[in-house]
Amino acid sequence: MRHLVACCLASGSGGNALWVEAEDQAVLVDAGLSYRELERRVSLVQELDPQRLVAVLITHEHRDHIDGLAVLAERLGLPVYLHQKTVPMVQRKLGGLPEVRVFDCETAFSIGPLQLRAFPVSHDCSNPVGFRISHQGRSLGLATDLGIVTEAVSNSLRDCEVLVLEANHDPALLWAGPYPEQLKRRVAGRYGHLSNTASATLLSSLLHAGLHTVVLVHLSRHNNTPDLARTAFTAVLASTPTRLLLAEQDSPGELLVV
Ligand SMILES: [Zn+2]
Ligand SMILES: [Zn+2]
Repeated sequence: MRHLVACCLASGSGGNALWVEAEDQAVLVDAGLSYRELERRVSLVQELDPQRLVAVLITHEHRDHIDGLAVLAERLGLPVYLHQKTVPMVQRKLGGLPEVRVFDCETAFSIGPLQLRAFPVSHDCSNPVGFRISHQGRSLGLATDLGIVTEAVSNSLRDCEVLVLEANHDPALLWAGPYPEQLKRRVAGRYGHLSNTASATLLSSLLHAGLHTVVLVHLSRHNNTPDLARTAFTAVLASTPTRLLLAEQDSPGELLVV
Protein backbone atom coordinates (compact mmCIF):
# COMPACT_ATOMS: atom_id res chain seq x y z
CA MET A 1 0.00 0.00 0.00
CA ARG A 2 1.54 3.30 -1.09
CA HIS A 3 -0.67 5.41 1.12
CA LEU A 4 0.10 7.19 4.33
CA VAL A 5 -2.56 6.39 6.93
CA ALA A 6 -3.21 8.36 10.11
CA CYS A 7 -5.73 8.36 12.93
CA CYS A 8 -5.84 10.56 16.00
CA LEU A 9 -6.83 8.19 18.82
CA ALA A 10 -6.96 10.81 21.57
CA SER A 11 -6.07 14.46 21.94
CA GLY A 12 -6.02 16.91 24.82
CA SER A 13 -4.67 17.30 28.32
CA GLY A 14 -6.36 13.99 29.25
CA GLY A 15 -4.05 12.04 26.94
CA ASN A 16 -2.64 12.10 23.42
CA ALA A 17 -2.00 9.39 20.85
CA LEU A 18 -1.67 9.60 17.06
CA TRP A 19 -1.43 6.52 14.84
CA VAL A 20 0.63 6.85 11.61
CA GLU A 21 1.07 3.92 9.23
CA ALA A 22 2.41 2.95 5.82
CA GLU A 23 2.85 -0.46 4.22
CA ASP A 24 1.34 -2.20 7.24
CA GLN A 25 3.90 -0.78 9.66
CA ALA A 26 2.58 1.70 12.19
CA VAL A 27 4.05 4.05 14.75
CA LEU A 28 2.25 5.66 17.63
CA VAL A 29 3.17 9.28 18.34
CA ASP A 30 2.73 9.79 22.09
CA ALA A 31 1.21 7.33 24.52
CA GLY A 32 -0.87 9.40 26.93
CA LEU A 33 -3.64 6.83 27.32
CA SER A 34 -3.57 3.79 29.57
CA TYR A 35 -2.75 0.57 27.75
CA ARG A 36 -6.29 -0.71 28.22
CA GLU A 37 -7.83 2.48 26.86
CA LEU A 38 -5.42 2.59 23.95
CA GLU A 39 -6.33 -0.99 23.08
CA ARG A 40 -10.02 -0.07 23.24
CA ARG A 41 -9.57 2.97 20.98
CA VAL A 42 -7.63 0.96 18.40
CA SER A 43 -10.36 -1.70 18.41
CA LEU A 44 -12.95 0.98 17.59
CA VAL A 45 -11.25 1.74 14.27
CA GLN A 46 -11.75 -1.28 12.07
CA GLU A 47 -8.76 -0.61 9.82
CA LEU A 48 -6.20 -0.48 12.65
CA ASP A 49 -4.41 -3.55 13.92
CA PRO A 50 -2.20 -3.32 17.03
CA GLN A 51 -0.08 -6.15 15.58
CA ARG A 52 1.19 -3.65 13.02
CA LEU A 53 2.66 -1.28 15.62
CA VAL A 54 6.45 -1.26 15.36
CA ALA A 55 7.48 1.73 17.50
CA VAL A 56 6.38 4.56 19.77
CA LEU A 57 7.62 8.13 19.33
CA ILE A 58 7.38 10.71 22.07
CA THR A 59 7.08 14.48 21.52
CA HIS A 60 7.89 15.42 25.15
CA GLU A 61 7.77 14.14 28.69
CA HIS A 62 4.52 15.69 29.98
CA ARG A 63 2.16 13.14 31.52
CA ASP A 64 -0.56 13.54 28.90
CA HIS A 65 1.95 12.26 26.32
CA ILE A 66 3.65 9.40 28.20
CA ASP A 67 1.26 8.04 30.83
CA GLY A 68 0.68 4.70 29.10
CA LEU A 69 4.14 4.43 27.57
CA ALA A 70 5.84 1.99 29.94
CA VAL A 71 3.06 -0.61 29.83
CA LEU A 72 2.56 -0.24 26.08
CA ALA A 73 6.27 -0.65 25.29
CA GLU A 74 6.53 -3.61 27.65
CA ARG A 75 3.39 -5.47 26.52
CA LEU A 76 4.02 -5.10 22.79
CA GLY A 77 7.82 -5.16 23.00
CA LEU A 78 8.08 -1.84 21.15
CA PRO A 79 11.15 0.38 20.90
CA VAL A 80 10.57 3.92 22.17
CA TYR A 81 12.05 6.81 20.18
CA LEU A 82 12.97 9.79 22.34
CA HIS A 83 14.96 12.97 21.84
CA GLN A 84 18.27 12.36 23.54
CA LYS A 85 17.63 15.09 26.13
CA THR A 86 14.16 13.71 26.88
CA VAL A 87 15.44 10.25 27.83
CA PRO A 88 16.42 11.05 31.46
CA MET A 89 13.20 13.02 32.03
CA VAL A 90 11.03 10.12 30.87
CA GLN A 91 13.08 7.59 32.82
CA ARG A 92 12.70 9.71 35.95
CA LYS A 93 8.91 9.62 35.59
CA LEU A 94 8.40 6.06 34.34
CA GLY A 95 11.47 4.10 35.37
CA GLY A 96 13.18 1.93 32.78
CA LEU A 97 11.85 1.23 29.30
CA PRO A 98 12.64 -2.01 27.47
CA GLU A 99 14.29 -0.41 24.45
CA VAL A 100 15.10 3.27 23.91
CA ARG A 101 16.32 4.73 20.62
CA VAL A 102 17.39 8.35 20.50
CA PHE A 103 16.99 10.95 17.80
CA ASP A 104 17.95 14.59 17.46
CA CYS A 105 16.52 17.46 15.43
CA GLU A 106 19.40 17.56 12.96
CA THR A 107 19.21 14.07 11.48
CA ALA A 108 16.39 12.39 9.58
CA PHE A 109 15.72 8.76 10.48
CA SER A 110 13.57 5.85 9.31
CA ILE A 111 11.24 3.42 10.99
CA GLY A 112 10.31 0.70 8.50
CA PRO A 113 8.96 2.46 5.40
CA LEU A 114 8.43 5.79 7.21
CA GLN A 115 10.92 8.65 7.02
CA LEU A 116 10.91 10.93 10.02
CA ARG A 117 12.36 14.22 11.04
CA ALA A 118 11.91 15.88 14.43
CA PHE A 119 11.97 19.64 14.85
CA PRO A 120 12.14 21.73 18.03
CA VAL A 121 9.05 23.42 19.45
CA SER A 122 8.74 26.01 22.20
CA HIS A 123 7.19 24.38 25.31
CA ASP A 124 7.98 24.14 29.02
CA CYS A 125 9.92 20.89 29.22
CA SER A 126 13.36 19.52 28.41
CA ASN A 127 13.41 19.21 24.62
CA PRO A 128 9.95 19.12 23.05
CA VAL A 129 9.61 18.28 19.37
CA GLY A 130 7.15 18.05 16.53
CA PHE A 131 7.46 15.47 13.76
CA ARG A 132 7.28 15.37 10.01
CA ILE A 133 6.52 11.80 8.92
CA SER A 134 6.76 10.91 5.24
CA HIS A 135 6.19 7.99 2.95
CA GLN A 136 6.84 8.01 -0.79
CA GLY A 137 6.45 11.75 -1.20
CA ARG A 138 3.46 12.18 1.11
CA SER A 139 3.90 13.83 4.48
CA LEU A 140 2.11 14.40 7.74
CA GLY A 141 3.28 17.26 9.97
CA LEU A 142 2.50 17.31 13.68
CA ALA A 143 2.95 20.38 15.87
CA THR A 144 1.33 20.21 19.29
CA ASP A 145 2.19 21.67 22.69
CA LEU A 146 3.95 24.81 21.54
CA GLY A 147 3.71 28.37 22.82
CA ILE A 148 4.87 30.16 19.70
CA VAL A 149 5.46 29.39 16.06
CA THR A 150 9.14 29.55 15.15
CA GLU A 151 10.80 29.39 11.76
CA ALA A 152 11.80 25.79 12.50
CA VAL A 153 8.13 24.91 12.96
CA SER A 154 6.81 26.58 9.83
CA ASN A 155 9.70 25.36 7.68
CA SER A 156 9.23 21.78 8.88
CA LEU A 157 5.53 21.77 8.06
CA ARG A 158 5.76 23.00 4.46
CA ASP A 159 4.03 21.00 1.70
CA CYS A 160 2.49 18.37 3.97
CA GLU A 161 -0.65 16.57 2.79
CA VAL A 162 -1.89 16.31 6.38
CA LEU A 163 -1.28 18.87 9.11
CA VAL A 164 -2.03 18.04 12.73
CA LEU A 165 -1.95 21.38 14.50
CA GLU A 166 -2.54 22.45 18.06
CA ALA A 167 -5.52 24.79 18.53
CA ASN A 168 -5.49 24.89 22.31
CA HIS A 169 -7.38 27.94 23.42
CA ASP A 170 -9.37 31.00 22.60
CA PRO A 171 -7.46 33.85 24.29
CA ALA A 172 -10.62 35.64 25.48
CA LEU A 173 -12.00 32.45 27.05
CA LEU A 174 -8.64 31.68 28.65
CA TRP A 175 -8.31 35.09 30.32
CA ALA A 176 -11.94 35.12 31.46
CA GLY A 177 -11.86 31.47 32.52
CA PRO A 178 -11.35 29.51 35.74
CA TYR A 179 -7.57 28.94 35.64
CA PRO A 180 -5.37 30.62 38.29
CA GLU A 181 -3.50 33.68 36.94
CA GLN A 182 -0.16 31.91 36.90
CA LEU A 183 -1.53 29.03 34.85
CA LYS A 184 -3.19 31.43 32.42
CA ARG A 185 0.15 33.14 31.90
CA ARG A 186 1.83 29.77 31.39
CA VAL A 187 -0.71 28.59 28.80
CA ALA A 188 -0.60 31.89 26.87
CA GLY A 189 3.18 32.29 27.18
CA ARG A 190 5.92 31.42 24.72
CA TYR A 191 6.43 28.01 26.36
CA GLY A 192 2.73 27.22 26.67
CA HIS A 193 0.10 26.26 24.12
CA LEU A 194 -0.92 27.61 20.73
CA SER A 195 -4.12 29.67 20.53
CA ASN A 196 -6.70 29.24 17.78
CA THR A 197 -5.62 32.50 16.18
CA ALA A 198 -1.87 31.78 16.28
CA SER A 199 -2.49 28.34 14.84
CA ALA A 200 -4.77 29.70 12.09
CA THR A 201 -2.09 32.26 11.19
CA LEU A 202 0.43 29.44 10.94
CA LEU A 203 -1.94 27.51 8.70
CA SER A 204 -2.45 30.51 6.41
CA SER A 205 1.30 30.48 5.72
CA LEU A 206 1.23 26.75 4.91
CA LEU A 207 -1.63 26.57 2.41
CA HIS A 208 -0.88 24.74 -0.82
CA ALA A 209 -2.87 22.89 -3.43
CA GLY A 210 -1.95 19.46 -2.05
CA LEU A 211 -3.07 20.11 1.53
CA HIS A 212 -5.67 17.37 2.01
CA THR A 213 -6.68 17.61 5.66
CA VAL A 214 -6.00 19.73 8.72
CA VAL A 215 -6.67 18.12 12.10
CA LEU A 216 -6.93 20.47 15.08
CA VAL A 217 -5.62 18.90 18.27
CA HIS A 218 -5.13 19.53 22.00
CA LEU A 219 -8.27 21.68 22.32
CA SER A 220 -8.73 22.80 25.90
CA ARG A 221 -11.99 21.75 27.55
CA HIS A 222 -12.02 24.92 29.65
CA ASN A 223 -10.58 27.53 27.33
CA ASN A 224 -11.89 26.57 23.91
CA THR A 225 -14.96 25.22 22.16
CA PRO A 226 -15.17 23.25 18.92
CA ASP A 227 -17.18 26.13 17.41
CA LEU A 228 -14.58 28.77 18.28
CA ALA A 229 -11.76 26.60 16.94
CA ARG A 230 -13.64 25.81 13.76
CA THR A 231 -14.54 29.46 13.19
CA ALA A 232 -10.92 30.57 13.54
CA PHE A 233 -9.87 28.22 10.75
CA THR A 234 -12.87 28.34 8.43
CA ALA A 235 -11.91 31.71 6.97
CA VAL A 236 -8.34 30.54 6.30
CA LEU A 237 -9.59 27.46 4.44
CA ALA A 238 -12.55 29.21 2.77
CA SER A 239 -11.52 28.93 -0.86
CA THR A 240 -9.57 25.67 -0.57
CA PRO A 241 -10.62 22.02 -0.91
CA THR A 242 -8.79 21.21 2.37
CA ARG A 243 -10.86 19.38 4.98
CA LEU A 244 -10.91 20.53 8.58
CA LEU A 245 -11.30 17.97 11.37
CA LEU A 246 -11.29 18.39 15.14
CA ALA A 247 -9.64 15.70 17.24
CA GLU A 248 -11.53 14.46 20.30
CA GLN A 249 -10.33 13.67 23.78
CA ASP A 250 -12.66 10.75 24.30
CA SER A 251 -12.97 8.99 20.96
CA PRO A 252 -10.83 8.20 17.93
CA GLY A 253 -11.10 10.43 14.90
CA GLU A 254 -11.64 9.61 11.26
CA LEU A 255 -9.10 7.40 9.49
CA LEU A 256 -7.09 9.55 7.08
CA VAL A 257 -5.63 8.01 3.95
CA VAL A 258 -3.54 10.19 1.63
ZN1 LIG B 1 -0.02 18.02 26.09
ZN1 LIG C 1 2.98 19.49 27.12
